[in-house]
Amino acid sequence: MVRSSILGFPRMGRLRDLKKATEAYWGEKISREELLKEAKRLRLEHWRIQQDAGVDIIPSNDFALYDQVLDHIQLFGIIPERYSKYGLHPIDEYFAMGRGLQRPAKDGQPAVDVPSLEMVKWFDSNYHYVKPTLQDNQQFKLAADPKPVREFLEAKEAGIITRPVILGPVSFLTLGKADRGQTVAPIAQLEKLLPLYVELLIKLKEAGAEDVQIDEPVLVFDLPASSKAAFKPAYAKLGALGGAAPRITLATYFGDIVHNIDVLSSLQSLYAIHVDLVRNPEQLRTVIASLGPNQTLSAGVVDGRNIWKTNLQAAIEKVELAVQRLGQDRVIVATSSSLLHTPHTLASEKGLDPEVRDWFSFAVEKASEVVVIANAVTNGPSSVREQLEANAKSIQSRATSKRTNDPKVKERLAAVTKDMYNRKSPFPTRIAQQETTLKLPLFPTTTIGSFPQTKEIRIQRNRFTKGEITAEQYEKFIEKEIQDVIKIQEELGLDVFVHGEPERNDMVQYFGERLTGYVFTTHAWVQSYGSRCVRPPIIVGDVSRPAPMSVKESKYAASVSSKPMKGMLTGPITCLRWSFPRDDIHQSIQAQQLALALRDEVIDLEAAEVFVIQVDEPALREGLPLRAGKEREDYLSWAVNSFRLATAGVADSTQIHSHFCYSEFQDFFHAIAALDADVLSIENSKSDAKLLKVFVDEAYPRHIGPGVYDIHSPRVPSEQEIKDRIAEMLQYLRPEQLWIDPDCGLKTRQWPETKAALANMVNAAKFYRQQY
Ligand code: GLN
Ligand code: ZN
Repeated sequence: MVRSSILGFPRMGRLRDLKKATEAYWGEKISREELLKEAKRLRLEHWRIQQDAGVDIIPSNDFALYDQVLDHIQLFGIIPERYSKYGLHPIDEYFAMGRGLQRPAKDGQPAVDVPSLEMVKWFDSNYHYVKPTLQDNQQFKLAADPKPVREFLEAKEAGIITRPVILGPVSFLTLGKADRGQTVAPIAQLEKLLPLYVELLIKLKEAGAEDVQIDEPVLVFDLPASSKAAFKPAYAKLGALGGAAPRITLATYFGDIVHNIDVLSSLQSLYAIHVDLVRNPEQLRTVIASLGPNQTLSAGVVDGRNIWKTNLQAAIEKVELAVQRLGQDRVIVATSSSLLHTPHTLASEKGLDPEVRDWFSFAVEKASEVVVIANAVTNGPSSVREQLEANAKSIQSRATSKRTNDPKVKERLAAVTKDMYNRKSPFPTRIAQQETTLKLPLFPTTTIGSFPQTKEIRIQRNRFTKGEITAEQYEKFIEKEIQDVIKIQEELGLDVFVHGEPERNDMVQYFGERLTGYVFTTHAWVQSYGSRCVRPPIIVGDVSRPAPMSVKESKYAASVSSKPMKGMLTGPITCLRWSFPRDDIHQSIQAQQLALALRDEVIDLEAAEVFVIQVDEPALREGLPLRAGKEREDYLSWAVNSFRLATAGVADSTQIHSHFCYSEFQDFFHAIAALDADVLSIENSKSDAKLLKVFVDEAYPRHIGPGVYDIHSPRVPSEQEIKDRIAEMLQYLRPEQLWIDPDCGLKTRQWPETKAALANMVNAAKFYRQQY
């Protein structure tokens, strides 16, 4: 028979229970025991959901209080001395590595002050993991009571036999790094680390585990030779354990493994190989052909990264293809990846329009999908006829809905011409005109858009959402806020003003709410890092702009300010990447639809006499495909085009800005240059000014505002510090191309530090104006 399986389940719980518990623990509102009790309750609840759905292979150790990679860091005792030296309770040491710890001496315990380990994005998802951080003389030691064994036993006690999930040794090391000042190559530590995996597998087997899932997602990368070569010795050793260890299912996801297919020949002693057939269905044949004679295929056909109902018929066909080659007993139906990246359950969404609600499937619902697919293949479609019919109806409804087929949007896309991607004149002509109209000084100063979102703003926004104040009252309040921030900018002597974004809750949701084609959920939270969750809007249909979205506020702001006002929009790629995108049309088409909507907005802003317009694209880089080559180039080409389509409709005299929350452009500088934005503001204060060298090397002709101070901390930079920073920048950039601005928006800051920092920034700019 074909079995069903899940690679991992979201851990937050239905109402973000885990977030609430961990934050209460950090705030000393609940005890450690209470936190652990809640975590245990959640694990059990999630196992039961999967058991009740009929899932054959249920994961354990997919749960983490903060992050699953951090769990492994602790499991293998890779704890830098700056954490271990305090002798904290293991849970507090764990959180200290995850989020840093700063606390005064108390009850005879010493003061603690230690920043977190580095956290970075997990592959191309919006989840962040904690980076394993190794020392030159790194020692490894398996925890006395290993978490995978503990959680396996916990489930077993509840009568559920699970398949523990472990991050594999090659991925774990490849995703790690040498600690500051250390030179160790993590992958070179494989031999030292492997005995711990051996020990762990044996312990799992002794505890009763028949199966284990070992994740090796780095197989989807263009692997460094050292990592690729590590698979053979690693799995020769683990595979050789035979009956002393559980059967190993090696899991890959978020890409195809065809370019690393030769590695599979050294994995033939393993029980099964899992591949992501949602992202890369075409790898199926190649992978099947490379399996050993007894090996099982775990077919990831239910999307772990998105919220759409699976097209069951199409999934069944994929699985049947595998069954024809391998037989039923050698095929497992699975989610494409862990369901960590999907919200908990659709059942919590009471307010959704029933038409679109019927198209969605969150983690709880996906659990039933893998079961139905496995049953259909094992016992024939008639065994699950009702479910298949209902599913076919939903798929059909979505495919033929007016929302997904808006002829007006299609017509507009079809009418896009080449010219629409290009500004009227090249940059030198544009900037000359902009100089006469905008009359900016050398080293113009500006900010990135938002000003502090005070408690008062949140209160009024809430009151408006709840209907406690009228639209008119709310509008008056927003106007007053805008007036206030303009007055402050005037007093500070900034050169290009912003309206401060007081009306915006979130930079994507705000625009999504004003576009046709988007829907919003109330509880569909997804873990981003630690206790932080995001609730991405969902693109359900063709996107268009029924009416201007931001013109009213920017126009008002421009009308009351004495200096140029910068209109502020979120770019097409960021609107796309920070949402759940459609899976029925290519993302490039969705980006183009968004771009056309934004293009109208840009043109309307210009008509409202807003002659500086910033289109933020902080998500451009995270969308970069994992592998270099054609896929990456294709992405960059449509991503850049969508930005150009959005912004190129204006006169030469209108200045287009863009903003990026990072400055490592080396990998794709040509794309940044191709945006053709008149001014780029980028994060730079915490990075090396040397990164700016690429702008010189590539003879970048346009204007750049590398952030001169870090906005993530309340610390006020002195005027001298900012001057020093500018001096560094001037080693690379020409004075006439340099703008002076902070790293990013100031939304999360308080007013006093904001004013003080900006005052110093303006003074530093004035100082340099006198020098040149
Ligand atoms: N304009 C936005 C702001 O200032 C930009 C935010 C971002 O880049 N993430 O808040
Ligand atoms: Zn930013």
